[in-house]
Amino acid sequence: MKALPMPRSLLPATLTLLTAMPALAEVPTVVADLPVAQSLTAQVMGELGTPDLLLDRSADPHHAQLRPSQARAVANADLVIWTSAALSPWMAEVVDSLAEGATLELATVDGTRHAPFADGAMFEAGDDDHDHDDHDHDHDSDTADAYDPHLWLEPANAAVWLDAIAGQLAAMDPEHAETYAENARAAAAQLEGLRAEIGQILQPVGDAGLIMHHNAYGYFARAFGLNVLGTVTGGDAADPGAARIAALRHDLQDAGAVCIFPEGNHPSGFVALVAEGTDMRIGAPLDPAGMLGEPGPDLYAQTMRGLAQVIADCVAGD
Ligand SMILES: [Zn+2]
Repeated sequence: MKALPMPRSLLPATLTLLTAMPALAEVPTVVADLPVAQSLTAQVMGELGTPDLLLDRSADPHHAQLRPSQARAVANADLVIWTSAALSPWMAEVVDSLAEGATLELATVDGTRHAPFADGAMFEAGDDDHDHDDHDHDHDSDTADAYDPHLWLEPANAAVWLDAIAGQLAAMDPEHAETYAENARAAAAQLEGLRAEIGQILQPVGDAGLIMHHNAYGYFARAFGLNVLGTVTGGDAADPGAARIAALRHDLQDAGAVCIFPEGNHPSGFVALVAEGTDMRIGAPLDPAGMLGEPGPDLYAQTMRGLAQVIADCVAGD
């Protein structure tokens, strides 16, 4: 802004006036950890501002380490919106030093629906099963109090979070409270349309058996009635051991899976190993956290729609 010339004698009075004003109605600077969280936040902020996205495309949300510049962005933000300690244990340490009120952990928002990991002989639920040689072991002891942290794949959770994000921003920036609330309402209405659209895309999939790369799709499968039979790796996408691959190949013989899906930000070698010698088609890579999408308000819908389209295309044999 250009400074207006003014008589020296007026300066003190002007400064007094400025400092006497109530807290400036500044839009908070916001950092969000995952592209899906950034997208929901961007929808709530609308024209008022753009939240920064913490993780870049090469990052794995389950196992990330911040560069110094990223750590600074977190430290300097007025508000850090992050998904959960269960998804990103490293993030819990990052926000630990921040002031209360300067963070919003989406998984703890009232009304968020938590569900346990998909479980069964062909699922990997825990974070380290490499040492087991019995593939029929159950995971109850590992997962008694663990929930599947891929919560955003249930659109109802995204809707609840939009409200919570608007509420927190309004508390920090009361001047724009109504805008945040309106934007959240509009975004929630769009989620309804998205849910219907995804239902249509997936309609031809029916109960075709699906195998996923990592154990991340429980919410999506429940929301849209998919028949996910198993996963190659666990809930944190750690590499599977040879025993795991062998067990899965053994179980698959009778399971009748139609498609198996790699993921864009993980090597596809394990998926190829599991699929080798079976009738399963290997689908295009899935991107469940939107890591490879174009960041911004539209990313959430594009990510959800993308999952549905890739699944439908593979099942259709495209
Ligand atoms: Zn995951």
